[in-house]
Amino acid sequence: MGILNSLVVGSAPLMPKFMIGKIASVYVAGDKLEDGLKLAKKLNSKGFSATLDLLGEEVTNRKQTNLVRNSYCDLFDGIANWGIDCNVSLKLTALGLKIDEELCWDNLSVVLDKAKEYNNFIRLDMENSEVTDSTIEMCKRAQKYYPKCGTVLQAYMKRTLDDIDLLKSHNTNIRLCKGAYKESEDIAYQDYQEIRNNYMESAEKMMDNGIYIGLATHDNWLIEELEKLIEKKAYKKNMYEFQALSGVPIDKILEKLINEGHKVRYYIPYGPEWYAYSLRRMRENPDIWKDTLKAFFFRSKHRK
Ligand SMILES: Cc1cc2nc3c(=O)[nH]c(=O)nc-3n(C[C@H](O)[C@H](O)[C@H](O)COP(=O)(O)OP(=O)(O)OC[C@H]3O[C@@H](n4cnc5c(N)ncnc54)[C@H](O)[C@@H]3O)c2cc1C
Repeated sequence: MGILNSLVVGSAPLMPKFMIGKIASVYVAGDKLEDGLKLAKKLNSKGFSATLDLLGEEVTNRKQTNLVRNSYCDLFDGIANWGIDCNVSLKLTALGLKIDEELCWDNLSVVLDKAKEYNNFIRLDMENSEVTDSTIEMCKRAQKYYPKCGTVLQAYMKRTLDDIDLLKSHNTNIRLCKGAYKESEDIAYQDYQEIRNNYMESAEKMMDNGIYIGLATHDNWLIEELEKLIEKKAYKKNMYEFQALSGVPIDKILEKLINEGHKVRYYIPYGPEWYAYSLRRMRENPDIWKDTLKAFFFRSKHRK
């Protein structure tokens, strides 16, 4: 970690909570479920689909995992009541993946029942490499139980092209992103262009296998290359979507995609745990603060 990064990360917990809150508010919709639903509705009115993600710390006791499970069920109820175009992303460690995989499955199956009740889609976010295998396994198990669910693959991981083979037979829906955690060079590409290249190769392999792809990136180079690939492969509009984190100031690029007829979805985090979550993300990947400052000073107008 560079000296500047260490300073920022080290001093973040000493900053007044309201300051961290101001910065986090660039991305986080608010504390309450209603805040998330309101922002999703607003983004729908501007032509974007939405995904809501309840922020949380990694959960370390069983009872807490049940509370998180219930909050996700409330989220599905809320989306249905508001009648909005919105699905759900969740992190399996919040449902107990690292405590006990069967506990995690018990919680997940309850949330899947809720998703099924409303015929909605659920995505299992990908966390760090400690849980890549278990997340993929959990996703395959979940898809047998309720097919409208999928997971995420990270282009910085050297295993990603092989992981597509693990998931392709499940008629799946995969979000492809670069990857947000610090991983070692043994298992993950570190070079910026190498990650982009693996992203493009993975996207192409997914298209060749007829997978629905969530193209999650703010990298303009990648977005332009992906548009070319979509055209070259004549990949159908109902087989992919672009995805971005709400608050990232790339309004013009996303508006252009919509005007060209592509589907675009915003990922919206919300929830009372935003403070602990923000500190943890900084610790996990200190480079994040640079992007955060950029988003803070060049505000996305889509949230207004
Ligand atoms: C919808 C969505 C879901 C995601 N889900 C996961 C997941 O499940 N697991 C996972 O590991 N990662 C996830 N990520 C994060 C992803 O892996 C990357 O860490 C992140 O998107 C940055 O990569 P990039 O492709 O935008 O490229 P970068 O090269 O990082 O960024 C491209 C440009 O966008 C700007 N930018 C990028 N991020 C931000 C930001 N937060 N604020 C302001 N500017 C920014 C950069 O400054 C740069 O100019 C998700 C990202 C998105 C958009």
